[in-house]
Amino acid sequence: MGAVTTVAAKHLYNSFGLHMREHFGQSVFKVNIDAGFTCPNRDGTVGVGGCTYCNNDSFRPSSCKPALGVRQQVDNGIAYLSKRYKAAKFIAYFQPYTNTYAPVDKLRQLYYEALQHPNVVGIAVGTRPDAVDDEKFRLLQGIAKDYFVLVELGLQSIYDKSLAHINRGHGYASFLDALDMASKYSSIHIGAHIIAGFPTETIEEMLSMAEAVSALRLGFLKIHQLQIVKGTAMAAEYAKNPFFVFDYEQYLDFLVEFIGRLSPQIVLQRMFATAPDDILIAPVWNKTRQQILLDIENKLRTTGTFQGKRYRTGSDAPRHL
Ligand code: SF4
Repeated sequence: MGAVTTVAAKHLYNSFGLHMREHFGQSVFKVNIDAGFTCPNRDGTVGVGGCTYCNNDSFRPSSCKPALGVRQQVDNGIAYLSKRYKAAKFIAYFQPYTNTYAPVDKLRQLYYEALQHPNVVGIAVGTRPDAVDDEKFRLLQGIAKDYFVLVELGLQSIYDKSLAHINRGHGYASFLDALDMASKYSSIHIGAHIIAGFPTETIEEMLSMAEAVSALRLGFLKIHQLQIVKGTAMAAEYAKNPFFVFDYEQYLDFLVEFIGRLSPQIVLQRMFATAPDDILIAPVWNKTRQQILLDIENKLRTTGTFQGKRYRTGSDAPRHL
């Protein structure tokens, strides 16, 4: 996946693409890796069936196949991105399932396999807050001496009612515990991933997550609209009892308000999702990534909004849980 932020967005929000460009002096591209992990919320360790919205095919490029091995996936991804974007620096992104869910020796081998490529400047590791521990953070802290290391903790919602509804298998407290633990490892960048649109939440509750995550020790944030995709428990729930999903204009309005409430310090890694057409049930927007990005930036501009415009600190900020 390339860095798709426009330069004009610089003063509107703190974008990942521009952040990385400033840090590394040039654009940094993500190479997706499927290292063959599974998930404790699927194999029975925490739960079975997984989160009700989860279909890993919705965010995994078909070129990512664990059977290829990590190094081959890195080589393939870099060859493609170099040719298409003239990209020269890369982050190996361990994305599908739970990418810390293995013994630490195995993790060390997989992460360093990706880092062997001379143009890989770091790793991003997507995982669950209940699948990290001190031993794994120590490994990542060691890697962070020489490389950029970002751990993306799946949160999805700050509301336990929503986490229970989506069969997440952990509560908000588990996320806060993981953040506390991570704070001992200052070289590791920590991000969170949240979803807006669960039927258990009001729009105001979704918006309030901006202030809640702003008060945490987070460097990075991904937020996107809930997408109902085929083959999930949520698709069955939606078919039986259709609930509100964001239409395009509603989501633009929501996101602009959210960005205005978000701390300007947090780097926005993602602002929307685009599941493949063949598995997406709702909402169907029929927009390209580039169009969505331009529309977000235009909406920010026309409403005079920028990241942090309405961000409040101190005792007047809402508190949650
Ligand atoms: S969303 Fe993540 S934690 Fe939930 S079932 Fe899917 S892989 Fe597991």
